[in-house]
Amino acid sequence: MTSPELFDVIVIGGGAAGVGAAVGAAQAGARTLLVESGPCLGGAATQKNVLTYCGLYTQGTPAYQAVGGVGEQVLAHLRQVGGIQAPIRISEPSNAVIALIDPEAVKLALDQVVQIPNLDVLLHTMLVGAERVGECLHSVTLQDDRGPRQVVGRAFVDASGEGDLAAFGGASVRYGNHNVAQAGTLGVRFGGIRPGADQSSKRWAQAIREAKQQGNSLLTKEDGLVLPIPVSGDLMTYLIDATYDALDSASITQAEMAGRARAWAYLAAIKTIPGYEQAYIVSTGPKFGTRESRHVNGHYQVTEADVTSGARHADVIALGAWPIEYHPEGDKPVVWKEIKDDGTFDIPLRALTSENTPNLYAAGRLVDGDGGGGSALRVMGTSFATGQAAGVAAALLARGSHEIAAIQAELERQGARLRAGQLEVVATEALA
Ligand SMILES: Cc1cc2nc3c(=O)[nH]c(=O)nc-3n(C[C@H](O)[C@H](O)[C@H](O)COP(=O)(O)OP(=O)(O)OC[C@H]3O[C@@H](n4cnc5c(N)ncnc54)[C@H](O)[C@@H]3O)c2cc1C
Repeated sequence: MTSPELFDVIVIGGGAAGVGAAVGAAQAGARTLLVESGPCLGGAATQKNVLTYCGLYTQGTPAYQAVGGVGEQVLAHLRQVGGIQAPIRISEPSNAVIALIDPEAVKLALDQVVQIPNLDVLLHTMLVGAERVGECLHSVTLQDDRGPRQVVGRAFVDASGEGDLAAFGGASVRYGNHNVAQAGTLGVRFGGIRPGADQSSKRWAQAIREAKQQGNSLLTKEDGLVLPIPVSGDLMTYLIDATYDALDSASITQAEMAGRARAWAYLAAIKTIPGYEQAYIVSTGPKFGTRESRHVNGHYQVTEADVTSGARHADVIALGAWPIEYHPEGDKPVVWKEIKDDGTFDIPLRALTSENTPNLYAAGRLVDGDGGGGSALRVMGTSFATGQAAGVAAALLARGSHEIAAIQAELERQGARLRAGQLEVVATEALA
């Protein structure tokens, strides 16, 4: 029997955080494995119709770019194929700067970004187990259609969104905060809309309200962002909310089936808008959009106050630039709270380090944050940054170093942005 393959760093999950982590670790010289259960990289951007990169830019005027490094590498690839629009300033529901993306371009850009030395990528590969020796993770069990196999690692990054690696490996985790997680939303993309037709969320709300009055009982939310994405001009919407157990396939199955039925009800409603007669659903999800499930319990929890006060930390490894955007359960209004002076808040390395498993780092939406803190740091722009930091920290740990100064120096060498006072202004456009 051959012994299991050994990697310096094993990253589970190929969303924004996992790509950031894997590229960051490999660029730091670690032999790295990136494992993704789906057929492509991108996570929510390619599997959940989440087609705006948030958190890349600050909200104020002028806006500054708060994420560099791997995030910027991805943007550069996207620009080459016209898969991303210039940063757009929106005013509703919050003053924010976002970048609209095309999901096929994201798939290609991420395929390109991971073509670097030291990095192996496995799609269609599911983490189904993790084994620890003493207080450290030792190996993971991966499954494809050939069956399970074990791979050994020196350091690990959980970028699975659901915290599978941490939970299966016995690290300290929790579900949501105080057992409450934010509501999920099924992202739906609509096409076939005549150019020049009214695309405002106000006009949509009117059509949805009228359909509800006429007895369309599957419709709930009336107001939500309606945004045209690049390349296709399709409209992206987040109108279908649900509360479910993101760790339980029976619960998700029910949410997805009900969500798809509701998507068709929304289609019927918007077809009454002039210019929407030929509208159709381009895609639902395909996965229901889970905003929050497990968090890794870290050495520090990013709090709502950290976000609103623009907190600074000596062990900063990434800058958060997205405000608090908390989606409560049960169709209640979204809670928005701005960052002090529309600036940034520091995310400390301690929020990424597991409190009981020293060779495990959290990245992306499972980084330790309370309700408000977690709702701000979860977005994809910031996930590229926490991912890159987790990957770099894991790479250095695999070589025996955990000095924060060395991690920060390597991140800056890789183009990551850690210093709030040294950001570059970025030109923004208004939403057409
Ligand atoms: C409806 C909705 C709207 C949102 N709107 C925005 C927005 O406009 N802009 C924005 O920036 N963010 C938005 N967000 C937040 C954002 O999408 C997520 O917080 C972000 O994607 C987190 O990135 P991640 O890499 O941590 O996780 P994910 O994108 O969820 O990626 C995790 C990856 O891990 C993989 N994985 C999971 N378990 C395993 C396993 N056991 N084995 C192998 N692979 C596994 C998954 O397949 C997935 O690809 C929204 C979220 C939702 C749900």
